[in-house]
Amino acid sequence: PPPTLLHPEKWCRGFNHFISQCLIKDFEKRPSVTHLLEHPFIRQAHGKDMSLQKQLADLIQAQEQLGFIAKIRYERIHTRRPYRVDAADKHSLDDDLVNLEVLDEDTIIHQLQKRYADLQIYTYVGDILIALNPFQNLSIYSPQFSKLYHGVKRSSNPPHIFASADAAYQGMVTFSKDQCIIISGESGAGKTESAHLIVQHLTFLGKANNRALREKILQVNPLVEAFGNACTAINDNSSRFGKYLEMMFTPTGAVMGAKISEYLLEKSRVIKQAVGEKNFHIFYYIYTAFGVHSVYKILAGILNTGNIEFAAISSQHQTDKSEVPNAEALDNAAALLSIGSEELQEALTSHCVVTRGETIIRTNTVDKAADVRDAMSKALYGRLFSWIVNRINTLLHNAESRMNVGILDIFGFENFTRNSFEQLCINIANEQIQFYFNQHIFALEQMEYQNEGIDATTVEYEDNRPLLDMFLQKPMGVLSLLDEESRFPQATDLTLVDKFEDNLRCKYFWRPKRVELCFGIQHYAGKVLYDAYGFLEKNRDTLPADIVVVLRTSENKLLQQLFSSPLTKTGISLLYFQIDTMEMMRHPEETTNMKRQTVASYFRYSLMDLLSKMVVGQPHFVRCIKPNDDREALKFSQERVLVQLRYTGILETVKIRQQGYSHRILFEEFVKRYYYLAFKAHQTPLGSRESCIAILEKSKLDNWVLGKTKVFLKYYHIEQLNLFLREVI
Ligand code: ADP
Ligand code: MG
Repeated sequence: PPPTLLHPEKWCRGFNHFISQCLIKDFEKRPSVTHLLEHPFIRQAHGKDMSLQKQLADLIQAQEQLGFIAKIRYERIHTRRPYRVDAADKHSLDDDLVNLEVLDEDTIIHQLQKRYADLQIYTYVGDILIALNPFQNLSIYSPQFSKLYHGVKRSSNPPHIFASADAAYQGMVTFSKDQCIIISGESGAGKTESAHLIVQHLTFLGKANNRALREKILQVNPLVEAFGNACTAINDNSSRFGKYLEMMFTPTGAVMGAKISEYLLEKSRVIKQAVGEKNFHIFYYIYTAFGVHSVYKILAGILNTGNIEFAAISSQHQTDKSEVPNAEALDNAAALLSIGSEELQEALTSHCVVTRGETIIRTNTVDKAADVRDAMSKALYGRLFSWIVNRINTLLHNAESRMNVGILDIFGFENFTRNSFEQLCINIANEQIQFYFNQHIFALEQMEYQNEGIDATTVEYEDNRPLLDMFLQKPMGVLSLLDEESRFPQATDLTLVDKFEDNLRCKYFWRPKRVELCFGIQHYAGKVLYDAYGFLEKNRDTLPADIVVVLRTSENKLLQQLFSSPLTKTGISLLYFQIDTMEMMRHPEETTNMKRQTVASYFRYSLMDLLSKMVVGQPHFVRCIKPNDDREALKFSQERVLVQLRYTGILETVKIRQQGYSHRILFEEFVKRYYYLAFKAHQTPLGSRESCIAILEKSKLDNWVLGKTKVFLKYYHIEQLNLFLREVI
């Protein structure tokens, strides 16, 4: 009798979608193995009359070839040039920098440059993806490409951002483990675009049949970005907040929902933008979309608040009283916010102080009144943003979900002509992400070699831990010192810089002579000069109680809700809430100060919150690189790319990926995962060293190593094992 074949859907899973479909269709038309084996796609790879095992092996081989066909298709579309097939291209060793024989900066940069000229913007370093910003639209993200990158071996197709999404998805489905994709790179390097593409592909992989859900998920990014992104000197669509998007799935991998966590919105942009920069996008959209709606009213209210001016009035008794000379702006703002304009004026130009049980009203100077106005705008926008994110989460959240893939897209490293408090926070966040990367790629790996008694070359890398300590440690770190200084009413931005100078005795900090309010920091990504002007005020971020009281009287229900008490009740500030509870657990004695939470302390805990989310998942890294500062297509500045390769430690990463073992799995866990490859379903092999060897030998892998308790595998082994597994199961 002719050999029977497993149902084609089973074995086709390892094929790319296009080929699978062809084969399945063919098989359905004539369900004969002999006929199927005659299919031109498969014919080259086998003889006839084979055992099932042999057939499968051949199918795999055929798939390799088909993958090659897919690659040609890809490159045709990709480069829009006639594709030249030659032997060297077939294996495409240059897709992965780890395959380079000579490992130095020159070789790597030339390799990337050559690929970029061919519009090959993606390159692997082992399991890490390097993405060069193409600064032009490439037609490599269509549904055909989604199909191409669906559950196939990575080497079957050229490097692609979809492959990273696919790897995370397969990792999640195969091992029921949460995954986390960390996208890093400077501002304008392409992080946000990459995040979109990942969401797009995950939605495809997650078979979001429910069209409404799919639409909703895909709409989330544009919506949140309208509120959280703005045009800066570097990027027309720069993210001014950190975003961690979790896509939720069923155990079988169907997408069920999503959840966004937002971190540190740059609220100060609402009131002031640097030269050549703009306010958040949404303010430009509302002119076209202005309606009957409370969100728009609040936005328009914020804009009009910005027009309120103050002038000093000196009467006989009071010299530092201020008033609003342009009553129109005040009235407009008050009307849009649905509050009384007299009450608003009152709250802006005076404040209540309670001393010994007595309430006294004090007047505000012109400067103070302007500060209060700005604080109000920032608070309005910040809370509105959180509310929107929260609303989206309510719509998309699915409590039933068991697994997720998180995608981190944060504001990239920034170094402007003038750098303020916002840049400091942004750069500290990037410092933390770099640290996380280093931990994963270098530190943990090398520690494990030692513990497991494995002889592996040590790769030197730039550890930014001392720098991170300088920022975050208590009580002498930058953020703690800033908080301490913010508590003194007499402190000034100058005393703050003095304090930094006195306490930060560290080679990463310096104070340039002659420029009073300036200090410099040697970040992992380069030197940045900060201007401390306004640091204290920005950190205090105080919102006078008088303003809260007035806003609570608003007839706009939404606005009322945003400022209702307690803050956490509305659910808007989920993050504050989490931080509060974390703070209480950690420092019960400090909780009395919670009401006066500074931006620095909020930021510190946001970072912790973010990290706690990231560490539970299996990480995948995407390193975005900006090939030039002029946003020009096909322009590759060696100098600029080199800087980025250096500070992200790409050279070291290539080395460790070439020499090291990126996967380290306990014997027991390894046997549990892969015993099918060497044992029968009814067998129950021990989680022992011997069982591991049996599996590894049966799978014909080489270059693996066994430690005391763990199997050490190269990054490409896992892919091969998983592929075999899918075929056997
Ligand atoms: P970042 O988030 O790192 O600051 P963005 O993702 O916003 O950077 O990218 C900046 C700009 O670069 C985008 O607005 C887009 O014009 C361009 N860009 C980035 N990635 C791609 C891509 N894959 N294809 C086409 N254009 C891109
Ligand atoms: Mg961005």
